[in-house]
Amino acid sequence: MKRLENKVALITGGSRGMGAAIAERFAAEGADVVITYARSTDSAGQVVEKVKQQGRKALAVQADSALPADIQQAVKQAVATFGRIDILVNNAGVFQMKQLEDYTLEDYDHMMAVNTKAVFVAAQAAVAHMPEGGRIITIGSNMAERLTTAGGLLYSMSKSALLGLNKGLARDLAARGITANLVQPGPIDTDMNPADSPHAEGIRSQTAVGRYGQAREIASLVTFLASPESSFITGTEQTIDGGYNI
Ligand code: NDP
Repeated sequence: MKRLENKVALITGGSRGMGAAIAERFAAEGADVVITYARSTDSAGQVVEKVKQQGRKALAVQADSALPADIQQAVKQAVATFGRIDILVNNAGVFQMKQLEDYTLEDYDHMMAVNTKAVFVAAQAAVAHMPEGGRIITIGSNMAERLTTAGGLLYSMSKSALLGLNKGLARDLAARGITANLVQPGPIDTDMNPADSPHAEGIRSQTAVGRYGQAREIASLVTFLASPESSFITGTEQTIDGGYNI
């Protein structure tokens, strides 16, 4: 028996990086998958193909997480296609480093809209269609716990807010048999944080394990949290950073 047999999952930001790895792993575990994306139509199409090659159904929806109406529409499309949402993975995120004086209010609004408000909007829309046993998994960051460099204040703030949101979701939804957990990655080799960037060596040296993580390692943890095996785990933060923050 596969761990997510016949489950329906909605993954925001599933066209690249961790979201794509989670979509492919979920399909391997027996789930049908809806992914959202902002711009990468081709990459989203490739993820859909990979899911289908594993014998599962998939749908890609262009939905800007900065726009609540887009997220609500993506949930509607997922439900119209597959009838329900068993698993919501709030993965879409944006990253920007600037000094305090260089940030604009537009930077603030966009970072908070995509990294924080979108999680609230997606959860609110999805739970209306989520049966007992449902799962909400949100991708935060280990930068919510510990900020080791200057310039990350907005990103850190946007991800820190998810700790409270996640706990609230866990409390509000427990009676319905739905769990909510926050996954806080450290440096993971994706387009957002490539392991060959000019900053990579400094980042790598701060991990205990001496390397970047891979998107599939995040997908492993998210798959466990999405599965029935995690039924007594709710409201938690799971930091997965190769010992960066210890
Ligand atoms: P990537 O930049 O590789 O991929 C981001 C994904 O999110 C893409 O699918 C992208 O879609 C989508 N996305 C971005 N903005 C929007 C938007 N406005 N609306 C809808 N989709 C959007 O990022 P990662 O895979 O590295 O990051 C995934 C999550 O993990 C994020 O929340 C990030 O903050 C977090 N994280 C990442 C770390 C890292 O080291 N990589 C460390 C800690 C946390 P499109 O392809 O269309 O642009």
